[in-house]
Amino acid sequence: MALLELKRLALVGVLLLLSVAILPQKSHAQAAPAAHEFVPGEIIVKLKGSSKTLKAQAFIGKAVSEQAMSLKGSWSGLNMHHFKLADPAQMAAKIAELQADPDVEYAEPNYVVRLSPMSTSSENVISLAEARSTEGASSTYGPLAQTNAPIQLANAWDAETPGKAPVVVAIIDTGVDLSHEIFRDSGAVWVNPGETAGNGIDDDGNGYVDDINGWNFVANSNLPGDDDNHGTHVAGIVLGSTQDILAYPMSASKIKIMSLKFLDSNGIGTTSDAVRAIYYAVNNGARILNNSWGGGGYSNSLVDAIAFAYSRRAIFIAAAGNSSVNNDVSPTYPASYSVPGILSIAATTDADGFASYSNYGVSTVHLGSPGSSIWSSLPNDTYGRSSGTSMATPFVAGIAAMVLRENPDLSAYQIKELILSGAEPISSLQTKTISRSRLNAYNSVAAAKAAVASASQPGYVASARAPASEEAGAAGCGLVKALADDISGPSGPHRNVAFFGLLLLFAAPILIALALRKKSGASRRRFPRYQISSQVRMSVGGRELTGEVSSISMGGVQVAMGGPADAGAGSNPDAWLENGGVVSMTIKSPDGREEIRVAGKVVWAEEKKRYGVAFEGADSSVLNSIGRWTASLLKAS
Ligand code: CA
Repeated sequence: MALLELKRLALVGVLLLLSVAILPQKSHAQAAPAAHEFVPGEIIVKLKGSSKTLKAQAFIGKAVSEQAMSLKGSWSGLNMHHFKLADPAQMAAKIAELQADPDVEYAEPNYVVRLSPMSTSSENVISLAEARSTEGASSTYGPLAQTNAPIQLANAWDAETPGKAPVVVAIIDTGVDLSHEIFRDSGAVWVNPGETAGNGIDDDGNGYVDDINGWNFVANSNLPGDDDNHGTHVAGIVLGSTQDILAYPMSASKIKIMSLKFLDSNGIGTTSDAVRAIYYAVNNGARILNNSWGGGGYSNSLVDAIAFAYSRRAIFIAAAGNSSVNNDVSPTYPASYSVPGILSIAATTDADGFASYSNYGVSTVHLGSPGSSIWSSLPNDTYGRSSGTSMATPFVAGIAAMVLRENPDLSAYQIKELILSGAEPISSLQTKTISRSRLNAYNSVAAAKAAVASASQPGYVASARAPASEEAGAAGCGLVKALADDISGPSGPHRNVAFFGLLLLFAAPILIALALRKKSGASRRRFPRYQISSQVRMSVGGRELTGEVSSISMGGVQVAMGGPADAGAGSNPDAWLENGGVVSMTIKSPDGREEIRVAGKVVWAEEKKRYGVAFEGADSSVLNSIGRWTASLLKAS
């Protein structure tokens, strides 16, 4: 669906958002017109304070019920919410209105991002077997090592300590062909240890069902394969930085590749999906994040996600971009954000020249890495070459993984420092990057062995940048309107529930409550409710929670959650809400002698300011029991 939406976007043309960046601490708005694509009508809003508050829930409820916005998802831990306006032409006005709201920390468009454009050579695509048979030899295809740049990969491999645990590297990209021999035979495919394949259950309760090898945020599925070529090429470079991928048989991998697909078959994605992928990566154990993509305006939500990764000691390696521009003057996001955990990568050639297409910046781009004519894996057991900062970035990710593998307690900041201090000064980078140097694998890995891991690292607090002034609503009227009719029509793509899975669930009670209210009227009840005090056990996503039922009717119960039966993530009383929306309950009778088992849907009871569970599919024996129990109970007010 998302794919369709974005393809349509591409067809209609580039929707431009003229943004005027207003930098804090400046008395005048600095006009910096930049054209940024965004998804029409979609707004990411971060509220102040906690999402567990009634205030936050009321905000969402009001937005949905009164302001013609639909909720596409929430990152409830951050109190960040993803809305879609019924009328995208109102976007500029709505963003301005939200920004003026004292409860809103920021509101911004959902930007469109792309894989860092590269030159791909479609000649020279050969089978892996063919590549193996010609490795190192001068042949039609030339020497097929991934790069001939002097980054000392083989020396680094020799210097490594054997027997160390593999490091998880997240490839946030177009997906990875994980069935490719080089990943399969070396055991480089990340397997989610908390998930049982194919049982249709979110075993580890992370919000993604059967996410064995990663996730596909475009299709919202557990198949993060590659329908482009980009992600597979990038992943092969990461693996190839850590071992010889043309050796046969292959040795066991030192890394595990977690494929997070958020760019579609055209290489296009959105900020909101990038944010989701970053959270997935970090929450599921990746500490090296490869990002060979970029675009869009300054996004507070993306900065928040990268800052979160940094707080969890994960390093975010990003392509500087391939437009030959100076990122100091004209930033390329996410590479140009100032979060300390970011390494921004320019591309060099085999002969240590500066790649003509590469972006640069003596203040904002950290180092160079080989990116020209890089051989690597392509889908379906093939092998071919590509150029770009997209290719330079994964060499750094691979070396970062080796550094971390040597010394697993290193902070993200230390990994970055070891990469930078190990890099070799080269003349072509003197006016191009902060370090004026090109990656050197051996130096960094050797230094990592001797480094003393630090428990702390420099702090970073993201402060929301003053909002861009959006003019798209007015300027693009006709186009925006046409697009709006197109995508919000009955046949138009709706990413809603499928799109956001877990993330929608936090708001589900509110939406359900609103729907119920609409149907039955605010004050009328279908069933009389009775006061009761009895125990309830709930099972959500394999987790048991205990609580107390405070009232009961034939239609449902009101529940006060006391806490989890285990001491896990459920210790947050609201956590169960975020985990499903549908719960199975065992409710004890008031005298404790019998119990009923019933499934229900979590709803928000506005008038009581508390949660309830509406029964779903309560059979006659359950209803009979409730009838008997309530015969001796007082009616609830
Ligand atoms: Ca899962």
